[in-house]
Amino acid sequence: MVIPKNGERISKIDAYLNCAENFAYRSTCIKRKYGAVIVKDDAVISTGYNGSPRGFENCCDLGTCPRIQKNMHQGEGYGICRAIHAFENKSQGGYDMALKYEDVFRLGS
Ligand SMILES: [Zn+2]
Repeated sequence: MVIPKNGERISKIDAYLNCAENFAYRSTCIKRKYGAVIVKDDAVISTGYNGSPRGFENCCDLGTCPRIQKNMHQGEGYGICRAIHAFENKSQGGYDMALKYEDVFRLGS
């Protein structure tokens, strides 16, 4: 999280990344939390976070993630977690992504 210093404004990019970080806290996976902010013409048009698709169980509700159970590390086994990528998750919300005209800010931990 970028915090303003000495009363100065943070940059727009830092503001979008801060927003993505906040949405990462909505993630339903307990192994990794990611947030995404989609910006077009300097306006936030959509936000998202990694989580299970509608109708599927969440890692946070089950209290575990298959990646934790198999002791997987960064870059391993994303396909076995029930949570899908923050950006894909938002895309499933019905918004038609025209990516070449938009900026996507992603942040995760
Ligand atoms: Zn998970």
